This record gives sequence, structure tokens and C-alpha cells, in this order.
Amino acid sequence: MALAFDEYGRPFIILKEQEQKSRLRGLDAQKANISAGRAVARILRTSLGPKGMDKMLQSPDGDVVITNDGATILEQMDVDNQIAKLMVELSRSQDYEIGDGTTGVVVMAGALLEQAEKLLERGIHPIRVAEGYEVASRIAVDHLERIAHKFDFSEANIEPLVQTCMTTLSSKIVNRCKRALAEIAVKAVLAVADLERKDVNLDLIKVEGKVGGKLEDTELIYGIVVDKDMSHPQMPKRIEDAKIAILTCPFEPPKPKTKHKVDIDTVEKFQTLREQEQKYFDDMVQKCKDVGATLVICQWGFDDEANHLLMHRNLPAVRWVGGVELELIAIATGGRIVPRFQELTPEKLGRAGLVREKSFGTTKDRMLYIEQCANSKAVTIFIRGGNKMMIEETKRSLHDALCVARNLIRNNSIVYGGGSAEISCSIAVEAAADRYPGVEQYAIRSFADALDSIPLALAENSGLQPIDTLTAVKSQQVKENNPYCGIDCNDVGTTDMQEQNVFETLIGKQQQILLATQVVKMILKIDDVIAPSEY
Ligand code: ADP
Ligand code: MG
Repeated sequence: MALAFDEYGRPFIILKEQEQKSRLRGLDAQKANISAGRAVARILRTSLGPKGMDKMLQSPDGDVVITNDGATILEQMDVDNQIAKLMVELSRSQDYEIGDGTTGVVVMAGALLEQAEKLLERGIHPIRVAEGYEVASRIAVDHLERIAHKFDFSEANIEPLVQTCMTTLSSKIVNRCKRALAEIAVKAVLAVADLERKDVNLDLIKVEGKVGGKLEDTELIYGIVVDKDMSHPQMPKRIEDAKIAILTCPFEPPKPKTKHKVDIDTVEKFQTLREQEQKYFDDMVQKCKDVGATLVICQWGFDDEANHLLMHRNLPAVRWVGGVELELIAIATGGRIVPRFQELTPEKLGRAGLVREKSFGTTKDRMLYIEQCANSKAVTIFIRGGNKMMIEETKRSLHDALCVARNLIRNNSIVYGGGSAEISCSIAVEAAADRYPGVEQYAIRSFADALDSIPLALAENSGLQPIDTLTAVKSQQVKENNPYCGIDCNDVGTTDMQEQNVFETLIGKQQQILLATQVVKMILKIDDVIAPSEY
């Protein structure tokens, strides 16, 4: 088996045995599957942790993505093998459920597969391995509950939330600004959170980015920012106390359709048509004014003549606003989207304290800020950065941080990171293995070894001696009976993750273990692979 790169720099996996055979059975099948899964895990292993490496992936059309996020790396890779695809799915499901921990889950699954291979070689039946893993995963998940901490937070004391988000961001490229970004993420989540129901609708947080400025200029806006400008340069740049009509219907005179026949054979007829068109639009503008609108936001465009008229009649307008943005604007301003022009009424107007146009740089780039909205439950995180790749990666990193903050609002339990939780689970699982008389105990012990792979990878990626560091930390945990000792990746001087403020969410860690075990069990249970021999 080898990992190769095609002419676009995309990695792919070559499974030598599978080129000749169309069918693999029994142990051969399991081994081939295991090595495919492990190959994927090996790619991600170096990306784990605060000192993890980033990957640069180039798409066939030349787009470059630089990322540290496990789910994104796998998403961008063209994986051909079906088992390797399962690992991609694994990372994706962690991303859907939790948002963070997408690298760790794959590394964990890879380690479980590696251990399983050894067990299979010793002649243990795959089903016994799968059963042992199941038992062990339950022990580990229960143990996590025991070492987890609950913390209290309120809107006045958001520090614990910020610290946890900072741990998530510390392994990303945006590490430099983790404090500021973590605060933005927490404030954004709290702004849209329903603390009574313990739920957060992340759809209400709009993440917008624009190239230029510095990462430090990234800001949270209590309102909506849209990448659009007023349709006419002479319209006002600033509207206070705006009453906004949000239209998804055309805002222009109806165009003659080609299937109707309009005979215009005299100048007079043309004039009448023109006047009628003008009058039609003039009536529309008047109707907007009558209901009290001071700004019109349309999904569709209108032509230059209409634009000119709007300017004359002093009704600012914004055109070509996307559907998702319209919905957010409607939520934020408490307005209703008007799908038929006749239905426009004063109550359907949205309200915002301030709508302003802001220009950036020297490129005549303008954006529209809608602030001080009637219902502030919709916010925008506006990212600035040196280039597009940086902005995209910041978006992904913020997604992780937002998910972590949301998970903490749902369940405010945390475990300590830096591999400390895994080491503690490993010790607990190892100890529990003795209670099982059957062959499963081998699998349970192997599960404990697999848990060690996370701290090992963290140490290795930080340039430490992996085995030495792990054994030292492990014996410290046992000696001091302190489950918070982990790998000191940043060379702070203490292994106590409680002191270092390295937190992760409990549900995230539990989900990692459960998902990894599930996939590994599934892979182990495949003993026959029938695939087309040529393609
Ligand atoms: P994932 O995609 O799985 O979240 P990351 O690259 O974000 O992968 O790495 C997360 C791992 O790094 C976790 O095990 C976490 O505990 C660890 N980690 C994060 N920050 C630190 C730190 N400052 N010191 C030690 N370990 C850390
Ligand atoms: Mg992370």
C-alpha cells in the first residue's frame, strides 16, 4: 500500500493487492481494509494539536485551500477507496454533531484499527475484538463523566466559555488572535442563544469575510452586514431609523414578454407605452412611500431608468440581495418578506436604528451595515484578513469555536485536553480489563493502548519524545491521582491542563470515542470485499 500524489497534488491511496484481485476474503479482507483506514488516519495525525501541521490542498481548477481542520482536509481529498471513504464520513459526522474534534476522531479510529490488526494476527476473532472494543468504549465514556467538570457561566461571566473556545482555536492557523476570536464567537453565540431552552440556532450567526485589513480587525456586529451597496451612488449613505420594505417580488414595471405581441408603429404609441411603464413604477414607489418605507431591499434587480427614478423620488434601494440574507434581515429587523407587491403594508416593514454604507480600501468596495435592529437576535461576524485563503480558514476555525460554545450552552461539562482525558481513560480501561475473564480482555487492553495514541501524537507533533513524554505523564497521573495531567505542547512548564486552561467539551470527547469505535467495529466485521477488478 502506498500513498501517492497525482499531478494536481491530491493525495491518493494505492492498494497494491487490490489491483489484481477482484475479491478479498477473511483475514486478507480485514487487513486490506485496516490498512486503507490507517492510511487516512496517518495523513491527519500530523495535524493534531496546537503544534499540528497544516495541509495545502489544490483543487483541479487551481484553487488552493490551506487548512488544519480534519473534516476539511478529508473533504478536499479525492479518496477512492471505500473504506477510506468511511473515515471521511467519520470525520464528517463528528463535524455535523459536534463541530470540533474532527482530526482527533480519525486519529483515534486509526489507532484502534492498528491495535485490531495485531489482535487479528494473534488469531483472535474479529467479533471478539469488536465486542471488546464496545465494552471498552462504554467504560471510557462513563469514566469521562466522572472526570468531567461542570462550570457556571452567565452573561456577565463568559470567561469559562472563552477559555474553551480558545483551546479549540489554539490548534488553528488563527492561533495568533485566539483570544479576540474566542470572545467574538462566545458573544455571537450568547447573542442568539435561547438560554432557557438551552438551544442555539447557529443559522442566525452570519459569517462574512472581506479581503483586506488585518485579522485583528475582525469584528462582531449586532446586526446584519451584506456585501451589497445602495443601487445609486447618490443615494444617502446613512439612514437613521430605517423602515425597510423587504421584497422578493420584482420591483420594476412588467417587461413585455416575447410571447405577447405589442404593435408599436407610431411614435405616439411608443410614448404612451413609455409613460405607462413609468407611471406603473411611479405608483410602486408611491406605494412604498405611502406605507412609510425609507429603504427598499429587493431580491431582484431593476434597470437603470428605475434606479434613476428611485433616486429622484428619494427612496434608497438595494438590489440583488440573496435569499438567505433577506431572511436574516427579516429576522433581525422584525420585518416580513413581501412576496407580492400588493401585500405591502406598514406592519410588514422591518426596523433598524441605523443602516449605513461603509467603504473599504481604495477599491470602491462597499458593504451595507444594518444595525440596532428591532430584534437583535441575528448577528454577523465580519472577518478581515490578508488573503482569501486566510479568510476561508478563519471561517472554518470560527465554525469550530461557535460549535464549541453552542455545545457548552447545551451541556456545560468540560474535560481537560492535551491528551489528559485520554490518558485517564486509558488507565481506567486498562484496570477494568482484568475484570473480564474472556478473550475480550485483550481487546479491552488494546483499546487502552489506542487511547494513548492521542497524547502520543500531540507529543510527537510538538517535537517531544513521544514515548518518554507519555510514560512520564501517565505515571504522574497515577502517582498524584490527578486526571488532569496532559502533554505540555506549548512548553509552558506544567503538565497540569487545569492550570494551563486547556478545556474541551465533554460531549465532544465522548462523541469522538463512540464514533471511532462504531466505525472500527463496522470495518472489522467486513470479511468479504467484492469489487470490480478493472476500472
Ligand atoms: P481536532 O480537529 O480534533 O479538534 P485539533 O488540531 O484542534 O484537532 O487538536 C485538538 C487536540 O489538541 C485536543 O486533544 C486538545 O486537547 C489539544 N490541545 C489544544 N490546545 C492545547 C494546548 N494548549 N496544550 C495541549 N494540548 C492542546
Ligand atoms: Mg480542534
